[in-house]
Amino acid sequence: MRATTADLAAVFVLLGLVFGSLATALSHRLPQGLPIGKDRSRCPKCAAVLGVADLVPVFSWLAAGGRCRHCGQAVSWRYPLIEILVALLFAAAWWRGGGDLWASMLLALTGFGLMVITVADLEAGIIPDVMLLFLVPVALAWRWQGDGDWADAISGAVAAAAASFAVRWAFRRWRGKDGLGLGDVKFLGVAGLYLGVSGLGAYLLLAGLLGLLLGTGWRLAGRGPMFPFGPALCGSLLVGLYCPNVFRGIVPG
Ligand SMILES: [Zn+2]
Repeated sequence: MRATTADLAAVFVLLGLVFGSLATALSHRLPQGLPIGKDRSRCPKCAAVLGVADLVPVFSWLAAGGRCRHCGQAVSWRYPLIEILVALLFAAAWWRGGGDLWASMLLALTGFGLMVITVADLEAGIIPDVMLLFLVPVALAWRWQGDGDWADAISGAVAAAAASFAVRWAFRRWRGKDGLGLGDVKFLGVAGLYLGVSGLGAYLLLAGLLGLLLGTGWRLAGRGPMFPFGPALCGSLLVGLYCPNVFRGIVPG
């Protein structure tokens, strides 16, 4: 029996839910330096070891009415939300690949990595190095299956990292504190690898705009003057990869 398009799309959504579950665990554990895979998943409130039935993405949360089955305390709605968002990113990656399974897989893995970074930076103010290291080979494979323009990819990475490092250095001299984290600088290098020099202009414009919106919201919510830039960097890269036409609209080229 041959797998139909609908079968494969369903596989992507299911895989997305599984990766979404992994994303919630990683975004929580990586910033705290907790081991991955060694320790069983536990309820953050009562520390009960979670069984298979507790770990079915979204459905276990719904079935238990948003509460821990062991202690009855509320489980954050963020867990199912992240799982659903990653599943949507996987579905969109399938659609975007247009039947090219390899391209869809790479895009889906990218969406997963960006979701982990976004949540980790929002919650802990950290862009985990492990996730950047995970994205580097994905980015290289993405360029290889795309236009294969290595010169553009490498020079994009170097230009983005060097420029943002210079901004970081200048801000430090000027204000005596960090405006741009080292994690942001490294992330920009990875984004440059994906987009190349040609895509950097539109990328930085959109990232700056998203950062402005996020920073304003952050301040209005009373969460302090410093806000994490990672979500804006991830959001702009998502747009550049999932909807490249938007970038071509910002900077025609
Ligand atoms: Zn519990």
